Amino acid sequence: MSKYHRVGSEAGDKAEIKRSSKVRYRINWKRFAVFILLVVLVLFLCIKGITGCVNRDKPDDGSVKKDNVADPSTVELKGDEPPTGEDTSIRGIPELKDVLTYDDGDLLVLVNKYHGVTRDYEPEGMVTVEMSMAAWDDIQIKKEAYDAFVEMFNDAAAQGYSFCICSGYRSYEYQQELFENALATQSEEEAHMFSAYPGRSEHHTGLAIDITSESMDWALSQDFASYPEGQWLDEHCQDYGFILRYQKGKEDITGYQYEPWHFRYVGKEVAKDIMSRGITFEEYLGEN
Ligand SMILES: [Zn+2]
Repeated sequence: MSKYHRVGSEAGDKAEIKRSSKVRYRINWKRFAVFILLVVLVLFLCIKGITGCVNRDKPDDGSVKKDNVADPSTVELKGDEPPTGEDTSIRGIPELKDVLTYDDGDLLVLVNKYHGVTRDYEPEGMVTVEMSMAAWDDIQIKKEAYDAFVEMFNDAAAQGYSFCICSGYRSYEYQQELFENALATQSEEEAHMFSAYPGRSEHHTGLAIDITSESMDWALSQDFASYPEGQWLDEHCQDYGFILRYQKGKEDITGYQYEPWHFRYVGKEVAKDIMSRGITFEEYLGEN
């Protein structure tokens, strides 16, 4: 049995096919002509449409509109759109202005309460801090920051000062743990002042380090400012490209308490400019 359904009897089919084949031949030519016309029409409309799009986007003077060029590593947030992967259930978190999706190598990357990174943001070119310069094992930071720290560490050691890194890169998950711990042990206001919300910690960039010393019993406290190691760092950090990130009296700009132990690598030139003028990184970038 054929899969095609046939109408009418089998008898006389041959004559019917012969007669109709000529008719079909003529009809096919007409259809072909119509088909060609349609193809030409569709092509014409397509080309017109494409040209129209190009004309809409291209400014008259041939230059590229600045507004149309987005930094590919930064996503601007509009309205109440949540940043990628961020837990928005915690109260008191200020709205983000933008969020970084990947590391484009910018040493002046700004991460604070208003400028974040996505959960899966990973800094490039990380190295592990040698145990002789670390309080714990497996502390990682970016190579540029590490090379500068080694130089600073050696010069300080030659002058009789000894300190080490006790915190470098922190992942989103680790920062979340720290923040939740802060919320559990402090008031909400204190937690926001003393601890960064996950995705908004400068430590996530691999360019921030916390420094302590044996004389401090490896602890982090504001007392470090009155210890010889803390004073040496305050005086010399900029010569190696580091800035004291959260300064005294600038809490309303940085959003954090004074942290004499937290240093941020920005490169020598910028560090010297910032520290000599006594301004914050936000002020330097015009983001305060
Ligand atoms: Zn820190």
